[in-house]
Amino acid sequence: MTTTVLGYPRIGAKRELKRASESYWAGDSTAAELDAVGAKLRRSAWEALKEAGVDQIPSNTFSFYDQILDTTVLFGLVPPRFAGIAAGRDDRDSELETYFAMARGRSDAQAMEMTKWFDTNYHYLVPELSPTTRPRLVGRKPLSEYTQARGLGIETRPVLVGPLTYLMLAKNASDAPEGWDRLELLDELVEGYAELLGELAAAGTEWVQFDEPILATDAGSSVLAELERVYQRLGALSPRPKLLVQTYFEAPDPESLEALKRTPIEAVGLDFTAQRTLGTLSAVAGLGDKILYAGVVDGRNVWRTDIGAALATLTSVLGLASEVVVSTSCSLLHVPIDLDLETELDPELRARLAFAKQKAAEVVLLGRALTDGGESVSAELERARAADAVKIPAAFVNQRVRARLDALGADPSRTDYDQRLKARQGATGAQLLPTTTIGSFPQTADVRAARAGYRAGRLDQAEYETRMRAEIDRVIALQEDIGLDVLVHGEPERNDMVQYFAEQLEGYAATKQGWVQSYGSRYVRPPILFGDVSRPEPMTVEWITYAQSRTDKPVKGMLTGPVTMLAWSFVRVDQPLADTARQVALALRDEIADLEKAGIRHIQVDEAALRELLPLREADRKAYFDWAIGSFRLASSGVADTTQIHSHMCYSEFGQIVAAIDELDADVTSVEAARSHMELVDDLDSIGYRRGIGPGVYDIHSPRVPSADEIEASLRAALRAVEPAKLWVNPDCGLKTRGYVETEAALRNMVEAAHRVRADI
Ligand code: GLN
Ligand code: ZN
Repeated sequence: MTTTVLGYPRIGAKRELKRASESYWAGDSTAAELDAVGAKLRRSAWEALKEAGVDQIPSNTFSFYDQILDTTVLFGLVPPRFAGIAAGRDDRDSELETYFAMARGRSDAQAMEMTKWFDTNYHYLVPELSPTTRPRLVGRKPLSEYTQARGLGIETRPVLVGPLTYLMLAKNASDAPEGWDRLELLDELVEGYAELLGELAAAGTEWVQFDEPILATDAGSSVLAELERVYQRLGALSPRPKLLVQTYFEAPDPESLEALKRTPIEAVGLDFTAQRTLGTLSAVAGLGDKILYAGVVDGRNVWRTDIGAALATLTSVLGLASEVVVSTSCSLLHVPIDLDLETELDPELRARLAFAKQKAAEVVLLGRALTDGGESVSAELERARAADAVKIPAAFVNQRVRARLDALGADPSRTDYDQRLKARQGATGAQLLPTTTIGSFPQTADVRAARAGYRAGRLDQAEYETRMRAEIDRVIALQEDIGLDVLVHGEPERNDMVQYFAEQLEGYAATKQGWVQSYGSRYVRPPILFGDVSRPEPMTVEWITYAQSRTDKPVKGMLTGPVTMLAWSFVRVDQPLADTARQVALALRDEIADLEKAGIRHIQVDEAALRELLPLREADRKAYFDWAIGSFRLASSGVADTTQIHSHMCYSEFGQIVAAIDELDADVTSVEAARSHMELVDDLDSIGYRRGIGPGVYDIHSPRVPSADEIEASLRAALRAVEPAKLWVNPDCGLKTRGYVETEAALRNMVEAAHRVRADI
């Protein structure tokens, strides 16, 4: 039985790619040095897979930034604003200069937009296409990586982003006519792929993998006719490598599988960690004479594979294809490289984990188990079975948390919003159009150094707290001086809005080296949520109450919501996400109660990832919203009518979740709106949203300082749909990535604009 993986981490076990690219960007190393690191990283990935015993090794899964950006360059689809960068030069430096300018921007050319890759935390660079774009094969990357591997004696299967996924994930450039259909470029683009396949065939390539994850989304049905045409065309080439068309993250529609069956491609790859896959495959009576790449090892979570279940799945699909190849569910890009580097994890937890290297070994083990009845690997199988991660060990269970959740029963909720509003109006002379911020203030070098020093043991706790308090003092004084109404403590003690809480909650573990690429040279270390979650002690109360003690204005407490706590972690698979979310929510509920007891009257629960975790399939969304909203309400419903719960979300496409924002039942929700011209406000209006809303009045992602006039105009625009009593005034998102100079100027303008508009109400 043949084995493979769909892709491997590209960043290097010691984050070599980050160091090499950042040094190149800083002008401290040459293009040749950067290329040498790339070549070395590719080689070590191929060799690791070879050593693990994987039969078919993928190539072209390396990238200096992003595989979609690579595809854009490969087919000459560089947006015109970057065209001048390498004009008249054709050396490697100018090539890289253009490439990184597209990813990171330059003073004369804005970076391409970045967006999340399906429902993962990986970001790709969105291609920009217009009717004048002419796709054609101009690059050689897949070919040269294939040749590099071949030179090392390793036959590889180049991985390409499929043409349908590429076009569907692109956006229309600003000069494209309204309503223009990017699929008009499909035939030309496919000819580019055809030419590439010809070159690969000439170089001796046996297999090529086309990634078409778009087929696993609801958009898959809109490209059905094209799907068949594309792979008929590519399949009809001769000579050509054998073709694998691969989907992941969900099951494709039966119609897509039927269409692929009718084409001459040799193999179809499916993600068997998705519940629907087996049913879909059976529904179309298998793949006939094609080979099935069965992704039974989860490529995007960190648990060891349940070997018994994987073997059962593999056995059940043996009759549904001419041959079965054991594979991962998706590229291993989404998991850390090597568990062996994690020497400090609790041994009981560690025994349950597998990172990329260990997952490759699992694929091989499964292949052997099926090849000779498992004779040669019976001892390993025995061990793997004993250690599988299906049930969590007793030590990770917290009966008290479970009992408390049972006792709370169905989702608790607050009194009706209107009643809360009345209660509050009695309590305070409510300010119209209150001004506030989203939580974090600029993180200065001093603040970061203090945190790092404390972590490393160079600063003791007393000294660390003194410095953080000094920072809070500064931030409070600044906000008072600017004239903001609801203040924040500025979050100086937080490295990351999820990790900060994960470190304090029981049931969560942090890794030392578990880096995963989020985008470019930004890597994250998602915490691992491995057991029942509980809160041993208050997490934020001291900082917030300290901040409140420094001012007469209200200070807003700051927490990260259950959905976001799950979305940016590796989560348990032994129980539904809904159950895990309720445990996190219970811990937050306790924290909120403690904040309230300490006199805090505004508490914000950030749900930055509410949209990100939205299931790829419409059919799954209701169940998702039920638990996402339920857990938010569980966390936030234990407070008095006069306490205001805030929420925050930071993205602008709210179409699919606008109703959910309402159902969260927060008193106020702040959202990104500046870049989308307050469109959200109309969306909310259309569903009859009646709660407080703070549409971000300026974009914090740029150092540009918005004028008071500009902000005033945004506020007036918002007032066309929002009653004055419901409108809050705030920036788009937290300020932690900004500098103080622009932050202070922008906030002063924001307060000035609010004053002007208030004067007219
Ligand atoms: N409270 C967080 C901050 O201000 C929110 C961050 C976010 O929405 N991503 O930084
Ligand atoms: Zn935000």
